[in-house]
Parts: sequence; C-alpha cells; structure tokens
Amino acid sequence: MKIIKAPKAASDAWKRQRCIKKTDDLGQNGCGAVLALEESDVIVMLYYGTHFPHNYAGFKCPVCGKYGAVNGIPDPIWQRVYKAKKRSQVFDGFDDRRG
Ligand SMILES: [Zn+2]
Repeated sequence: MKIIKAPKAASDAWKRQRCIKKTDDLGQNGCGAVLALEESDVIVMLYYGTHFPHNYAGFKCPVCGKYGAVNGIPDPIWQRVYKAKKRSQVFDGFDDRRG
C-alpha cells in the first residue's frame, strides 16, 4: 500500500530542533545550534511538578552539552523512547515540589 499523504502525526518536522533557552527558571541558555535529530537521539527528561513527576522528550545538544525539549514529537515515537529509556531519564533541574 502506498501512503499518498501521511497524517500530521507522522511528520518529520520534530526532527529539526534548535538548541534554545529552555526555561527562565533554569536560566540555561542553549547555543542556538540547529540540529537534525533521529529517534535514537531522543532521551527521557524528568522534572517535578507540585504533585507529580513529569517526563518529556528531550535531547542533549552535541555542541554545548545543554539539554533541550523535543517539540512536536509524534506520540508513537515518544512512547517507544519512553519505554526504552525511562530508566535512564535525565532530571532537568526543575523541582516545584513543596517541602
Ligand atoms: Zn547547544
């Protein structure tokens, strides 16, 4: 079967990411590199919300070594990455838990 037009979720647009400042809270300024990611580059990031820990797709910039979020990653890819790499998740430094 040929796919005439893939749905948006199957888009490869997520593979193009820029190393940018992640959050004001962390003050982590990326270097601005534009990167072409593959699924194998995606890692599981972790932060703590007020009540629960949260995960998101991230990458480590090969230029400056800072972490960034992978915006727009299709859910099936994220689910695969999460299953494969959740044990090696990387804490991004944000912790909003109340002590
Ligand atoms: Zn960078």
